[in-house]
Amino acid sequence: MRRENARTDSEHRVGRGKLFVLSGPSGAGKGTLRERALKDIHGLVYSISCTTRRPRPGETDGVEYRFISHETFREWIAQGLFLEYAYVHSDMYGTLKADVMRELEAGNNVLLEIDVQGALQVREKIPEAVLVFVDVPSIQELERRLRDRHTETEEALRTRLANAVKELGLKGKYDYVVVNDDLDSACEELRRIIAS
Ligand code: ADP
Ligand code: 5GP
Repeated sequence: MRRENARTDSEHRVGRGKLFVLSGPSGAGKGTLRERALKDIHGLVYSISCTTRRPRPGETDGVEYRFISHETFREWIAQGLFLEYAYVHSDMYGTLKADVMRELEAGNNVLLEIDVQGALQVREKIPEAVLVFVDVPSIQELERRLRDRHTETEEALRTRLANAVKELGLKGKYDYVVVNDDLDSACEELRRIIAS
């Protein structure tokens, strides 16, 4: 049975809020599900990650990500500021510990959208975290979604599809797997997991 109450680890103390981690292959629909969840679920907040990736057209610093340099990322690692971080698709991505802890201590539920390596680091540090894997009906459908999104170069798309196969092999480590086939059904499933 999952422990619901605070654990009193001095470094990673958790308050009244609950931490939810969303992972899955690029293109599976994590961002889409996350936006719907944040709109529909009261008291759920999103922790904005840091990345060394360059902003895509339309992305704004501090909205989708905090876009930081490799040098700053390395400094923040050395200072122990990250709850988790990982090298994903040729860039660094990480979650700031202080952001998450502040929200949990304020009693908010926090949603992270991070890769599999990061999710497993979170589980080590905060065993109460609920890990949700967003799956796709097929690799062909994943490729179609990524192509239709028009955000990646052909090379980036290939990297993301190759990583997808590795990520899919780790879905057994998650508490829940939500197959994002019909979007409304997947949203409802995620909403029920968060509400339960
Ligand atoms: P991720 O954040 O996992 O990379 P996105 O949320 O950006 O994925 O979704 C990838 C693309 O697939 C987007 O263009 C999105 O509109 C589309 N998409 C998301 N969910 C579905 C779904 N259930 N059926 C069809 N297309 C979807
Ligand atoms: P994108 O570049 O498409 O926005 O994200 C690429 C991948 O990085 C996605 O799988 C996403 O979940 C992951 N990611 C985003 N933020 C973080 C983070 O803070 N930590 C980790 N480990 N992965 C992240």
